[in-house]
Amino acid sequence: MAAILPPAMLGILGGGQLGRMFAVAAKTMGYSVTVLDPDESAPAAAFADRHIQAPYNDPAALAELAASCAAVTTEFENVNADAMRELAKRTRVSPSGDCVAIAQDRIAEKSWIRKAGLATAPYLAIESVEDIQVDLAPYLPGILKTARLGYDGKGQVRVNTQDEARAAYANLGGQACVLEKMLDLQLEVSAIVTRVSSAQSAVFPLAENIHKNGILDESIVPARVAPALARQAQEMARKLAEALDYVGVLAVEFFVLADHSLVVNEIAPRPHNSGHYTLTACLTDQFQQQVRAMCGLLPGRTDLLSPVVMVNLLGDVWREDGREPHWDVLAEAPNAQLHLYGKKTARPGRKMGHFNVMAATADEALEQARALKDTL
Ligand code: ADP
Ligand code: MG
Repeated sequence: MAAILPPAMLGILGGGQLGRMFAVAAKTMGYSVTVLDPDESAPAAAFADRHIQAPYNDPAALAELAASCAAVTTEFENVNADAMRELAKRTRVSPSGDCVAIAQDRIAEKSWIRKAGLATAPYLAIESVEDIQVDLAPYLPGILKTARLGYDGKGQVRVNTQDEARAAYANLGGQACVLEKMLDLQLEVSAIVTRVSSAQSAVFPLAENIHKNGILDESIVPARVAPALARQAQEMARKLAEALDYVGVLAVEFFVLADHSLVVNEIAPRPHNSGHYTLTACLTDQFQQQVRAMCGLLPGRTDLLSPVVMVNLLGDVWREDGREPHWDVLAEAPNAQLHLYGKKTARPGRKMGHFNVMAATADEALEQARALKDTL
């Protein structure tokens, strides 16, 4: 397919921080951007040429997007996959509605991961109450996760016994779930792959991710794992993208177990919070890759320019009276870069921004990043 070149109009479903960073990349590369998001103050709108303010599945808004954009992508995991399939009849859409549908449903996601020959945690798919009447011992102690609409640890319940698991399933209103065995994690890592075609894909350096309360807190790059393990995770991400015939940016989260084996946790059909380090530390960043893939251009090179640590800034960092954190601390650190998403209200757990710290080693960057965060 012919490459889409500037100044073509690119569309994005969703106008959160990921859409905002996409818009910055696309505009910088000379494209125009239309954002579809119902929120008047959507973070991406500030950088877009056009903001269609309507529900994500509004037929008139989708028709307008299809008519005015040379290609459309998404930043929003729970976008309606049918809306994307419908759009694809009229314009170029990536990733495909089919891939997005798989990533949205933990049951489909896990079965695809296994189909691609990769390991998942032992899990039981629970689509109805009969499915949970089997012996649950292989999955206990475990985590019951809703099959759909979970993020940042939401929609998850830890369960220790069969009775607890059945009660938790009933509490979730009988919606489809997976019961997953709780694994003893040594580390969590993620690999982000950009795939345009079988012959054209590029994987970013592996990130080591530290979560707090189920939300990403820090990404450390390079991940502190053996180089062979990092390569293996990158190859697994590539293999998964291949199995899905994926076009776009695909994030793959892994667990590293005590025996150094890799288990795929979940995938996201878009740039990922754990890839924000690429904004300052890679030759091409993950949002430029999203633009390149949707336009049918070669993925850019993913070389790491410096060890880096990314720290998420949640609303919790703001003062209780709403005053801003001490940004001067970050502004005066020459090896730190602050990114704020332009969200008006800071709430606990809300992703407001992040900062990246570059240093000679990942450990040094981590030490400085933590010291900076403590003084904000
Ligand atoms: P979300 O969609 O909320 O990111 P995840 O499935 O990635 O959901 O779970 C969030 C976090 O919970 C993971 O990053 C990990 O720290 C922990 N977790 C999830 N599943 C397991 C598991 N099977 N064993 C151990 N820890 C887990
Ligand atoms: Mg996750």
